[in-house]
Amino acid sequence: MNLLHSTQTVIKEALEKLGYQEAMYELLKEPLRVLTVRIPVRMDNGEVKVFTGYRSQHNDAVGPAKGGIRFHPEVTEDEVKALSIWMSLKAGIVDLPYGGGKGGIICDPREMSFRELERLSRGYVRAISQIVGPTKDIPAPDVFTNSQIMAWMMDEYSRIREFDSPGFITGKPIALGGSHGRETATAKGVTICIREAAKRRGIQLEGARVVVQGFGNAGSYLSKFMHDAGAKVVGISDAYGALYDPNGLDIDYLLDRRDSFGTVTKLFNNTISNKELLELECDILVPAAIENQITAENAHNIKAQIVVEAANGPTTLEATKILTERGILLVPDVLASSGGVTVSYFEWVQNNQGYYWSEEEVIDKLEKVLVKAFENVYSLAQTRRIDMRLAAYMVGVRKMAEASRFRGWV
Ligand code: NAD
Repeated sequence: MNLLHSTQTVIKEALEKLGYQEAMYELLKEPLRVLTVRIPVRMDNGEVKVFTGYRSQHNDAVGPAKGGIRFHPEVTEDEVKALSIWMSLKAGIVDLPYGGGKGGIICDPREMSFRELERLSRGYVRAISQIVGPTKDIPAPDVFTNSQIMAWMMDEYSRIREFDSPGFITGKPIALGGSHGRETATAKGVTICIREAAKRRGIQLEGARVVVQGFGNAGSYLSKFMHDAGAKVVGISDAYGALYDPNGLDIDYLLDRRDSFGTVTKLFNNTISNKELLELECDILVPAAIENQITAENAHNIKAQIVVEAANGPTTLEATKILTERGILLVPDVLASSGGVTVSYFEWVQNNQGYYWSEEEVIDKLEKVLVKAFENVYSLAQTRRIDMRLAAYMVGVRKMAEASRFRGWV
Protein backbone atom coordinates (compact mmCIF):
# COMPACT_ATOMS: atom_id res chain seq x y z
CA MET A 1 0.00 0.00 0.00
CA ASN A 2 1.51 3.38 -0.91
CA LEU A 3 1.57 6.35 1.47
CA LEU A 4 -1.46 8.01 -0.07
CA HIS A 5 -3.58 4.86 0.18
CA SER A 6 -2.59 4.16 3.77
CA THR A 7 -3.39 7.76 4.75
CA GLN A 8 -6.78 7.51 3.02
CA THR A 9 -7.49 4.26 4.88
CA VAL A 10 -6.96 5.90 8.28
CA ILE A 11 -8.89 9.07 7.30
CA LYS A 12 -11.85 6.92 6.29
CA GLU A 13 -11.78 5.07 9.60
CA ALA A 14 -11.39 8.33 11.56
CA LEU A 15 -14.35 9.97 9.78
CA GLU A 16 -16.52 6.88 10.30
CA LYS A 17 -15.71 6.87 14.02
CA LEU A 18 -16.62 10.57 14.16
CA GLY A 19 -19.95 9.80 12.47
CA TYR A 20 -19.40 11.60 9.14
CA GLN A 21 -21.08 10.52 5.91
CA GLU A 22 -19.26 9.10 2.89
CA ALA A 23 -19.33 12.53 1.13
CA MET A 24 -16.96 13.98 3.74
CA TYR A 25 -14.48 11.20 2.97
CA GLU A 26 -14.87 11.87 -0.75
CA LEU A 27 -13.94 15.52 -0.11
CA LEU A 28 -10.98 14.85 2.19
CA LYS A 29 -9.43 11.75 0.64
CA GLU A 30 -7.63 13.79 -2.06
CA PRO A 31 -6.20 17.34 -2.17
CA LEU A 32 -8.49 20.09 -3.49
CA ARG A 33 -5.85 20.98 -6.07
CA VAL A 34 -2.43 19.81 -7.25
CA LEU A 35 -0.34 21.87 -9.64
CA THR A 36 2.39 20.20 -11.70
CA VAL A 37 5.05 22.54 -13.05
CA ARG A 38 8.05 22.23 -15.36
CA ILE A 39 10.97 24.42 -14.38
CA PRO A 40 13.73 25.15 -16.91
CA VAL A 41 17.06 25.88 -15.21
CA ARG A 42 20.29 27.03 -16.86
CA MET A 43 22.95 24.78 -15.33
CA ASP A 44 26.53 25.92 -14.69
CA ASN A 45 27.76 24.10 -17.82
CA GLY A 46 25.46 26.26 -19.99
CA GLU A 47 22.90 23.55 -20.72
CA VAL A 48 19.22 23.87 -19.79
CA LYS A 49 17.78 21.14 -17.59
CA VAL A 50 14.02 20.95 -17.06
CA PHE A 51 12.85 19.87 -13.61
CA THR A 52 9.37 18.70 -12.57
CA GLY A 53 7.78 20.12 -9.42
CA TYR A 54 4.45 19.91 -7.61
CA ARG A 55 2.39 21.97 -5.17
CA SER A 56 -0.50 20.21 -3.50
CA GLN A 57 -3.20 21.97 -1.46
CA HIS A 58 -5.20 19.45 0.46
CA ASN A 59 -7.84 21.61 2.11
CA ASP A 60 -8.34 25.29 2.86
CA ALA A 61 -11.64 25.26 4.73
CA VAL A 62 -9.99 26.26 8.04
CA GLY A 63 -7.49 28.71 6.55
CA PRO A 64 -4.65 28.99 4.01
CA ALA A 65 -2.70 25.85 3.11
CA LYS A 66 0.65 25.41 4.85
CA GLY A 67 3.48 22.96 4.29
CA GLY A 68 7.07 22.41 3.27
CA ILE A 69 8.89 21.98 -0.03
CA ARG A 70 10.99 18.87 -0.56
CA PHE A 71 13.94 18.63 -2.98
CA HIS A 72 14.61 14.93 -3.58
CA PRO A 73 15.21 12.58 -6.55
CA GLU A 74 12.39 10.29 -5.38
CA VAL A 75 9.63 12.92 -5.05
CA THR A 76 6.37 11.71 -6.65
CA GLU A 77 2.97 13.31 -7.09
CA ASP A 78 1.38 10.76 -4.75
CA GLU A 79 3.99 11.42 -2.08
CA VAL A 80 3.39 15.19 -2.25
CA LYS A 81 -0.36 14.60 -2.06
CA ALA A 82 -0.02 12.37 1.01
CA LEU A 83 2.33 14.86 2.67
CA SER A 84 -0.20 17.67 2.10
CA ILE A 85 -2.93 15.58 3.74
CA TRP A 86 -0.66 14.99 6.74
CA MET A 87 -0.12 18.74 7.01
CA SER A 88 -3.90 19.24 7.28
CA LEU A 89 -3.99 16.64 10.06
CA LYS A 90 -1.05 18.23 11.89
CA ALA A 91 -2.69 21.66 11.72
CA GLY A 92 -5.84 20.11 13.20
CA ILE A 93 -3.97 18.29 15.98
CA VAL A 94 -2.13 21.41 17.16
CA ASP A 95 -5.15 23.59 16.36
CA LEU A 96 -3.64 26.03 13.85
CA PRO A 97 -5.80 28.16 11.51
CA TYR A 98 -4.47 26.34 8.44
CA GLY A 99 -5.19 23.61 5.97
CA GLY A 100 -2.43 21.39 4.59
CA GLY A 101 -0.16 21.99 1.62
CA LYS A 102 3.09 20.48 0.37
CA GLY A 103 5.49 20.93 -2.50
CA GLY A 104 8.29 18.96 -4.06
CA ILE A 105 10.78 19.06 -6.90
CA ILE A 106 12.35 15.97 -8.44
CA CYS A 107 16.04 16.83 -8.18
CA ASP A 108 19.17 15.88 -6.26
CA PRO A 109 20.45 19.01 -4.49
CA ARG A 110 23.56 17.09 -3.36
CA GLU A 111 24.72 17.14 -6.97
CA MET A 112 23.82 20.77 -7.70
CA SER A 113 25.86 23.93 -7.16
CA PHE A 114 24.71 26.82 -4.97
CA ARG A 115 23.84 28.94 -8.03
CA GLU A 116 21.93 26.11 -9.73
CA LEU A 117 19.91 25.63 -6.53
CA GLU A 118 19.13 29.34 -6.42
CA ARG A 119 17.92 29.33 -10.04
CA LEU A 120 15.79 26.23 -9.37
CA SER A 121 14.27 27.75 -6.20
CA ARG A 122 13.40 31.02 -7.94
CA GLY A 123 12.04 29.15 -10.99
CA TYR A 124 9.77 27.06 -8.78
CA VAL A 125 8.31 30.18 -7.10
CA ARG A 126 7.64 31.79 -10.51
CA ALA A 127 5.92 28.58 -11.61
CA ILE A 128 3.60 28.30 -8.58
CA SER A 129 3.18 32.03 -7.78
CA GLN A 130 -0.47 32.12 -8.92
CA ILE A 131 -1.66 29.71 -6.24
CA VAL A 132 0.54 30.62 -3.24
CA GLY A 133 0.77 33.67 -0.97
CA PRO A 134 0.56 34.74 2.69
CA THR A 135 -3.22 34.26 2.77
CA LYS A 136 -3.43 31.38 0.25
CA ASP A 137 -0.67 28.86 0.81
CA ILE A 138 2.50 29.36 2.84
CA PRO A 139 5.47 27.07 2.05
CA ALA A 140 8.34 26.08 4.41
CA PRO A 141 11.44 23.83 4.38
CA ASP A 142 11.35 20.03 4.25
CA VAL A 143 13.88 17.34 3.26
CA PHE A 144 16.98 18.86 1.58
CA THR A 145 15.68 22.44 1.67
CA ASN A 146 16.83 25.04 4.20
CA SER A 147 16.64 28.68 5.30
CA GLN A 148 18.80 29.87 2.40
CA ILE A 149 16.40 28.30 -0.09
CA MET A 150 13.47 29.91 1.78
CA ALA A 151 15.29 33.28 1.54
CA TRP A 152 15.67 33.02 -2.27
CA MET A 153 12.02 31.98 -2.58
CA MET A 154 10.82 34.88 -0.39
CA ASP A 155 12.91 37.32 -2.43
CA GLU A 156 11.52 35.99 -5.72
CA TYR A 157 7.93 36.17 -4.49
CA SER A 158 8.44 39.71 -3.14
CA ARG A 159 9.86 40.79 -6.54
CA ILE A 160 6.89 39.30 -8.39
CA ARG A 161 4.36 41.00 -6.07
CA GLU A 162 6.47 44.19 -5.83
CA PHE A 163 6.24 44.44 -2.03
CA ASP A 164 8.14 42.78 0.78
CA SER A 165 6.31 39.56 1.66
CA PRO A 166 7.97 37.83 4.63
CA GLY A 167 4.67 36.07 5.43
CA PHE A 168 4.82 34.21 2.09
CA ILE A 169 7.14 31.51 3.43
CA THR A 170 8.44 30.30 6.81
CA GLY A 171 11.74 28.79 7.91
CA LYS A 172 13.55 31.96 6.77
CA PRO A 173 16.82 33.22 8.25
CA ILE A 174 16.27 35.45 11.32
CA ALA A 175 17.55 38.48 9.35
CA LEU A 176 14.64 38.09 6.90
CA GLY A 177 11.86 37.65 9.45
CA GLY A 178 12.53 34.08 10.52
CA SER A 179 11.50 33.04 14.01
CA HIS A 180 13.78 32.22 16.87
CA GLY A 181 13.45 28.53 17.62
CA ARG A 182 12.29 27.52 14.10
CA GLU A 183 15.50 25.65 13.22
CA THR A 184 15.11 23.30 16.19
CA ALA A 185 11.30 23.34 16.46
CA THR A 186 10.58 19.91 15.00
CA ALA A 187 13.16 18.29 17.26
CA LYS A 188 11.87 20.24 20.25
CA GLY A 189 8.34 19.04 19.52
CA VAL A 190 9.51 15.42 19.20
CA THR A 191 11.37 15.82 22.51
CA ILE A 192 8.18 17.01 24.23
CA CYS A 193 6.27 14.02 22.80
CA ILE A 194 9.00 11.62 23.95
CA ARG A 195 8.89 13.12 27.44
CA GLU A 196 5.07 12.86 27.59
CA ALA A 197 5.09 9.29 26.23
CA ALA A 198 7.84 8.24 28.65
CA LYS A 199 5.82 9.67 31.58
CA ARG A 200 2.78 7.59 30.54
CA ARG A 201 4.95 4.47 30.37
CA GLY A 202 6.87 5.16 33.60
CA ILE A 203 10.23 5.45 31.80
CA GLN A 204 12.83 7.87 33.21
CA LEU A 205 14.52 9.89 30.45
CA GLU A 206 17.68 10.07 32.55
CA GLY A 207 19.70 7.06 31.39
CA ALA A 208 17.10 5.85 28.85
CA ARG A 209 18.64 4.29 25.71
CA VAL A 210 17.60 6.16 22.56
CA VAL A 211 18.12 5.24 18.90
CA VAL A 212 17.59 7.88 16.21
CA GLN A 213 17.41 7.09 12.50
CA GLY A 214 18.47 10.14 10.44
CA PHE A 215 20.86 12.89 11.47
CA GLY A 216 19.43 15.85 9.55
CA ASN A 217 17.46 18.78 10.90
CA ALA A 218 15.03 16.64 12.92
CA GLY A 219 17.33 13.77 13.98
CA SER A 220 20.49 15.66 14.91
CA TYR A 221 18.85 18.29 17.15
CA LEU A 222 16.66 15.62 18.68
CA SER A 223 19.77 13.57 19.54
CA LYS A 224 21.24 16.68 21.15
CA PHE A 225 18.08 17.40 23.19
CA MET A 226 17.90 13.76 24.33
CA HIS A 227 21.58 13.82 25.26
CA ASP A 228 21.07 17.09 27.20
CA ALA A 229 18.09 15.52 29.02
CA GLY A 230 20.42 12.81 30.33
CA ALA A 231 19.36 10.05 27.95
CA LYS A 232 21.97 7.81 26.31
CA VAL A 233 21.82 8.10 22.51
CA VAL A 234 23.24 4.68 21.60
CA GLY A 235 22.56 4.75 17.84
CA ILE A 236 22.21 7.27 15.02
CA SER A 237 22.26 6.96 11.25
CA ASP A 238 22.25 8.74 7.92
CA ALA A 239 21.62 7.63 4.34
CA TYR A 240 24.99 5.82 4.21
CA GLY A 241 25.00 3.79 7.43
CA ALA A 242 24.63 3.87 11.20
CA LEU A 243 26.76 4.25 14.33
CA TYR A 244 26.25 2.27 17.53
CA ASP A 245 27.82 2.54 20.97
CA PRO A 246 26.03 0.87 23.92
CA ASN A 247 27.72 3.39 26.24
CA GLY A 248 26.27 6.38 24.35
CA LEU A 249 27.61 8.29 21.34
CA ASP A 250 29.42 11.63 21.54
CA ILE A 251 26.55 13.69 20.13
CA ASP A 252 28.28 17.08 20.36
CA TYR A 253 31.16 15.75 18.27
CA LEU A 254 28.83 14.20 15.68
CA LEU A 255 26.76 17.41 15.46
CA ASP A 256 29.91 19.36 14.84
CA ARG A 257 31.03 17.03 12.05
CA ARG A 258 27.77 16.41 10.15
CA ASP A 259 27.35 18.15 6.80
CA SER A 260 24.34 20.23 5.69
CA PHE A 261 22.64 17.08 4.29
CA GLY A 262 22.83 15.31 7.66
CA THR A 263 25.71 13.03 6.67
CA VAL A 264 28.24 11.99 9.31
CA THR A 265 28.79 8.21 9.16
CA LYS A 266 31.13 8.48 6.14
CA LEU A 267 33.79 9.62 8.61
CA PHE A 268 33.77 6.21 10.35
CA ASN A 269 34.82 2.70 9.32
CA ASN A 270 32.95 0.56 11.85
CA THR A 271 29.38 1.38 10.81
CA ILE A 272 26.31 -0.85 10.89
CA SER A 273 23.34 -0.77 8.50
CA ASN A 274 20.11 1.20 8.93
CA LYS A 275 18.28 -2.12 9.12
CA GLU A 276 20.43 -3.23 12.08
CA LEU A 277 20.02 0.16 13.73
CA LEU A 278 16.23 -0.13 13.88
CA GLU A 279 16.46 -3.48 15.66
CA LEU A 280 18.95 -2.40 18.35
CA GLU A 281 18.25 -2.90 22.07
CA CYS A 282 16.85 0.42 23.31
CA ASP A 283 13.99 2.05 25.22
CA ILE A 284 13.01 4.71 22.70
CA LEU A 285 13.28 4.48 18.91
CA VAL A 286 12.88 7.60 16.75
CA PRO A 287 12.70 7.17 12.98
CA ALA A 288 13.69 10.66 11.73
CA ALA A 289 14.71 10.01 8.13
CA ILE A 290 12.36 8.72 5.44
CA GLU A 291 9.18 6.72 4.80
CA ASN A 292 8.46 3.00 5.16
CA GLN A 293 11.27 2.06 7.53
CA ILE A 294 9.28 -0.05 10.02
CA THR A 295 7.28 -2.60 8.06
CA ALA A 296 5.62 -5.99 8.62
CA GLU A 297 9.07 -7.49 7.98
CA ASN A 298 10.94 -5.89 10.89
CA ALA A 299 8.14 -4.77 13.28
CA HIS A 300 8.45 -8.04 15.23
CA ASN A 301 12.14 -7.32 15.84
CA ILE A 302 11.78 -3.80 17.22
CA LYS A 303 13.03 -3.84 20.84
CA ALA A 304 12.00 -0.32 21.91
CA GLN A 305 9.10 0.27 24.32
CA ILE A 306 8.23 3.58 22.68
CA VAL A 307 8.47 4.50 18.98
CA VAL A 308 8.13 8.21 18.21
CA GLU A 309 7.81 9.11 14.53
CA ALA A 310 9.78 12.26 13.82
CA ALA A 311 9.78 11.46 10.09
CA ASN A 312 6.65 11.50 7.98
CA GLY A 313 5.32 8.01 7.30
CA PRO A 314 8.16 5.84 8.65
CA THR A 315 5.83 3.04 9.85
CA THR A 316 3.42 1.15 7.60
CA LEU A 317 -0.14 0.41 8.74
CA GLU A 318 0.67 -3.32 9.04
CA ALA A 319 3.64 -2.47 11.25
CA THR A 320 1.52 -0.06 13.32
CA LYS A 321 -0.82 -2.97 14.07
CA ILE A 322 2.05 -5.29 15.00
CA LEU A 323 3.70 -2.74 17.30
CA THR A 324 0.38 -1.93 19.00
CA GLU A 325 -0.37 -5.64 19.53
CA ARG A 326 3.08 -6.03 21.04
CA GLY A 327 2.25 -3.27 23.56
CA ILE A 328 4.72 -0.78 22.09
CA LEU A 329 3.52 2.83 22.37
CA LEU A 330 3.67 4.40 18.92
CA VAL A 331 3.45 8.21 18.80
CA PRO A 332 2.44 8.94 15.19
CA ASP A 333 4.10 11.40 12.80
CA VAL A 334 1.12 13.74 12.55
CA LEU A 335 1.45 14.43 16.28
CA ALA A 336 5.17 13.91 16.96
CA SER A 337 6.52 16.04 14.13
CA SER A 338 4.05 18.91 14.45
CA GLY A 339 6.51 21.18 16.30
CA GLY A 340 7.88 22.44 12.96
CA VAL A 341 4.56 23.64 11.60
CA THR A 342 3.63 25.08 15.01
CA VAL A 343 6.68 27.36 15.07
CA SER A 344 6.17 28.07 11.34
CA TYR A 345 2.75 29.36 12.37
CA PHE A 346 4.42 31.49 15.07
CA GLU A 347 6.80 32.85 12.41
CA TRP A 348 3.87 33.77 10.14
CA VAL A 349 2.03 35.46 13.04
CA GLN A 350 5.16 37.49 13.85
CA ASN A 351 5.56 38.47 10.16
CA ASN A 352 1.92 39.53 9.95
CA GLN A 353 2.08 41.67 13.08
CA GLY A 354 5.65 42.91 12.49
CA TYR A 355 6.52 42.24 16.13
CA TYR A 356 9.05 39.57 17.04
CA TRP A 357 9.27 37.22 20.02
CA SER A 358 12.24 35.95 22.03
CA GLU A 359 13.31 32.30 21.81
CA GLU A 360 11.98 31.72 25.34
CA GLU A 361 8.52 32.97 24.32
CA VAL A 362 8.51 30.71 21.26
CA ILE A 363 9.57 27.62 23.22
CA ASP A 364 7.12 28.37 26.01
CA LYS A 365 4.23 28.64 23.52
CA LEU A 366 5.35 25.50 21.66
CA GLU A 367 5.51 23.55 24.92
CA LYS A 368 1.92 24.49 25.83
CA VAL A 369 0.57 23.63 22.37
CA LEU A 370 2.25 20.24 22.19
CA VAL A 371 1.52 19.09 25.73
CA LYS A 372 -2.17 19.80 25.09
CA ALA A 373 -2.11 18.07 21.69
CA PHE A 374 -0.41 14.99 23.15
CA GLU A 375 -2.95 14.76 25.96
CA ASN A 376 -5.89 15.16 23.53
CA VAL A 377 -4.64 12.31 21.34
CA TYR A 378 -3.48 10.05 24.19
CA SER A 379 -6.71 10.35 26.17
CA LEU A 380 -8.84 9.72 23.06
CA ALA A 381 -6.77 6.60 22.31
CA GLN A 382 -7.27 5.39 25.88
CA THR A 383 -11.01 6.08 26.12
CA ARG A 384 -11.84 4.67 22.67
CA ARG A 385 -9.30 1.81 23.02
CA ILE A 386 -7.72 2.62 19.68
CA ASP A 387 -4.11 3.14 18.61
CA MET A 388 -2.52 6.59 18.77
CA ARG A 389 -2.45 6.93 14.97
CA LEU A 390 -6.20 6.55 14.59
CA ALA A 391 -6.78 8.82 17.60
CA ALA A 392 -4.48 11.47 16.10
CA TYR A 393 -6.33 11.29 12.78
CA MET A 394 -9.66 11.71 14.58
CA VAL A 395 -8.39 14.80 16.41
CA GLY A 396 -6.70 16.10 13.23
CA VAL A 397 -9.61 15.71 10.85
CA ARG A 398 -12.37 17.03 13.14
CA LYS A 399 -11.98 20.81 12.70
CA MET A 400 -11.39 20.52 8.94
CA ALA A 401 -14.54 18.43 8.54
CA GLU A 402 -16.52 20.83 10.69
CA ALA A 403 -15.23 23.87 8.76
CA SER A 404 -16.07 22.18 5.44
CA ARG A 405 -19.59 21.51 6.73
CA PHE A 406 -20.10 25.10 7.98
CA ARG A 407 -18.96 26.42 4.61
CA GLY A 408 -21.65 24.28 3.03
CA TRP A 409 -19.19 22.18 1.01
CA VAL A 410 -20.60 18.88 2.26
P1 NAD B 1 17.09 16.30 6.43
O1 NAD B 1 17.22 16.31 4.97
O2 NAD B 1 17.66 17.43 7.23
O3 NAD B 1 17.74 14.95 7.03
C1 NAD B 1 17.37 13.68 6.58
C2 NAD B 1 18.28 12.66 7.25
O4 NAD B 1 17.87 11.35 6.83
C3 NAD B 1 19.76 12.79 6.85
O5 NAD B 1 20.59 12.44 7.93
C4 NAD B 1 19.89 11.74 5.72
O6 NAD B 1 21.21 11.27 5.56
C5 NAD B 1 18.98 10.66 6.27
N1 NAD B 1 18.52 9.73 5.22
C6 NAD B 1 18.17 10.05 3.94
N2 NAD B 1 17.87 8.92 3.27
C7 NAD B 1 18.01 7.89 4.15
C8 NAD B 1 17.85 6.49 4.07
N3 NAD B 1 17.49 5.90 2.91
N4 NAD B 1 18.07 5.74 5.18
C9 NAD B 1 18.46 6.34 6.32
N5 NAD B 1 18.64 7.65 6.47
C10 NAD B 1 18.42 8.42 5.39
O7 NAD B 1 15.53 16.13 6.73
P2 NAD B 1 14.72 16.53 8.03
O8 NAD B 1 14.22 17.92 7.85
O9 NAD B 1 15.50 16.16 9.24
O10 NAD B 1 13.47 15.56 7.86
C11 NAD B 1 13.53 14.19 8.24
C12 NAD B 1 12.11 13.66 8.33
O11 NAD B 1 11.36 14.45 9.26
C13 NAD B 1 11.32 13.72 7.01
O12 NAD B 1 10.42 12.64 6.95
C14 NAD B 1 10.55 15.02 7.13
O13 NAD B 1 9.41 15.04 6.31
C15 NAD B 1 10.22 14.98 8.60
N6 NAD B 1 9.88 16.29 9.14
C16 NAD B 1 10.81 17.31 9.16
C17 NAD B 1 10.43 18.54 9.65
C18 NAD B 1 11.40 19.68 9.74
O14 NAD B 1 10.99 20.78 10.20
N7 NAD B 1 12.66 19.51 9.38
C19 NAD B 1 9.12 18.75 10.11
C20 NAD B 1 8.22 17.69 10.09
C21 NAD B 1 8.62 16.46 9.59
